[in-house]
Amino acid sequence: MQNIDWDNLGFDINPAEKMFVSRYRDGAWDAGSILDYGPIPLYPAAVVLNYGQGIFEGMKAYRMKDGRIAMFKPEDNATRLNAGCRRLCMPELDEDFFVTSIEALLRENLDFIPPFGKGDLYIRPILFGSGQMLGVNPADEYTFIVYMSPVGPYFKGGFSGIRLKIRRDYHRAPLLGTGGVKAIGNYAASLEPKRMVKEEGYDEVLYLDARTSSYVEEVGSANFFLLKDGVIATPRLSGSILPGTTRNEVLVLAKERFGLVPQERDIRYDELFSADELFCTGTAAVITPILSVNFEGENHVIGGGSPGKKTRELYEELKGIQLGDIEDERGWLHIVE
Ligand SMILES: *Cc1c(COP(=O)(O)O)cnc(C)c1O
Repeated sequence: MQNIDWDNLGFDINPAEKMFVSRYRDGAWDAGSILDYGPIPLYPAAVVLNYGQGIFEGMKAYRMKDGRIAMFKPEDNATRLNAGCRRLCMPELDEDFFVTSIEALLRENLDFIPPFGKGDLYIRPILFGSGQMLGVNPADEYTFIVYMSPVGPYFKGGFSGIRLKIRRDYHRAPLLGTGGVKAIGNYAASLEPKRMVKEEGYDEVLYLDARTSSYVEEVGSANFFLLKDGVIATPRLSGSILPGTTRNEVLVLAKERFGLVPQERDIRYDELFSADELFCTGTAAVITPILSVNFEGENHVIGGGSPGKKTRELYEELKGIQLGDIEDERGWLHIVE
């Protein structure tokens, strides 16, 4: 095993030793096998390389306080992956097969799960058209791979918060496109605007809707939340917004645990500037406070520029459940035996 600096994990690739690979041929997925992590053979005419027929998921395995290993609602990721497969004309995976393959792989990669409190093991399933086509058509063969990497916070500094910039001249995803699934092409489209705002010292782009450039969609690859006067609002799932699993969990905890009023609705960009607290959510981002939003040259500082109180309470509740510090009343943990 290579040397991993457990005290300085970022969101970088440090591949765990083993990966899981299954192939779809002649109308069926094979049983799959666990192999050493390494390069995979692919024809230049593979549909994924030419036309972007591919999708991914993002999950984590947590080392709990008592030493047990858990995933968080992995069935939700299976369901979302399959929704994406339908949108991209790819064969679906049996949901039990998805979860049990990942569990089997986790058992082989236990040494790569960071020590308690140091980070998590990020799980990256990918599924793509590996068959060859010259014209734009669905592939006739597919590959499903799961690889893993120990990670720390997605945004450097973690809960210390991020600074965003709204770019009205770039959209993440059009209304009737593939924004609602984790299609790989969505992320290629976000590279240029992300690079631009990073060069100016911001952490990410805050995207507005592609039709009017007025309503908030998402923060790069995390869902957006606004808190104001006891209401917690997040953009409604318009089709171009990725239905985050963390988004759902936060809506439930906000209502049931903290008595906040949840709203899924349109949020105009100017509503942000007078919010009490802003944050974004994702498996990788967990709950990350948003400290400021720049819009057309003006920097709007939120909540005095430090992480909000309710944001912190929600973060501690969610992390507490994931790490076994707070009782899992809703059956969200999936213990890996
Ligand atoms: C993955 C992702 C999210 C977060 O989803 P989770 O299920 O909470 O990890 C949000 N937005 C985009 C665009 C994403 O790709």
